[in-house]
Amino acid sequence: MNVEKAWTILKDHSFKRTKNREAILHYLAQQDGYTAAMDVSEFLKRENPGLSYDTVYRNLATFADLGILEETDLHGERQFRMHCDPGVHHHHFICTVCGRTKHIPSCPMDLLAVELPGVEIEGHKFEVYGKCPSCK
Ligand SMILES: [Zn+2]
Ligand SMILES: [Zn+2]
Ligand SMILES: [Zn+2]
Repeated sequence: MNVEKAWTILKDHSFKRTKNREAILHYLAQQDGYTAAMDVSEFLKRENPGLSYDTVYRNLATFADLGILEETDLHGERQFRMHCDPGVHHHHFICTVCGRTKHIPSCPMDLLAVELPGVEIEGHKFEVYGKCPSCK
């Protein structure tokens, strides 16, 4: 997902191109992994002191609903990152210190499905947490 693709999705859902939304998307596009809503808000406030945490948080939640962002829960906080390009199914390793992610190309669902006979599986979530090589 890049900023232009995000705007295509937002326009399809009648969201206006505002400076705040633009700033949030650009900031997340530069990050290498998950960032807490509070960190996004703190960073953007440096340039725009009038921007409230609520505005940032609401926009992040909207972007996640629209599939522009992926979200996870780390240290009891909602964290966001630009959505990986869809198409290739994969999972993430997430560093609990810096939030950086690493792709896991294989999926454990194939193994688990065997243990759920007669069930129609609609979706699943799988994340691995730990410390990345630079945070160890
Ligand atoms: Zn990914
Ligand atoms: Zn790390
Ligand atoms: Zn999977």
